[in-house]
Amino acid sequence: MSQEKGILNLKKKLIKRREELQKMISSSKEKERNISEVDRGDDIDRATISENREMVFIMGSREREELKTIEEALRRINNGTYGICDECEKKISKKRLEILPFTHYCRDCQSEIESSLKK
Ligand SMILES: [Zn+2]
Repeated sequence: MSQEKGILNLKKKLIKRREELQKMISSSKEKERNISEVDRGDDIDRATISENREMVFIMGSREREELKTIEEALRRINNGTYGICDECEKKISKKRLEILPFTHYCRDCQSEIESSLKK
């Protein structure tokens, strides 16, 4: 039962984080828009503007990546596949999930995948 409670807590955390990320992404979009508007002016430092735009883009993309990971985890929680190994369909240990909350594989499958990648 404590495993389920842990998942419930994780779900709450993920939903909270998702909200934060969505806010950050929309504010970085806002910034991007502001920069584009400035771009239409005459006496502007174009180098600074493209630098800024790049920064906003990089910031936003990292957040979008994280958002994707979180949405994926939430989807797995909702359909009951969270904490189940993609490979062998066994339960992933609670300890492992505490360290790697977004992992798709149990320890054995993960090390198998890693060793096959090295070959
Ligand atoms: Zn496995």
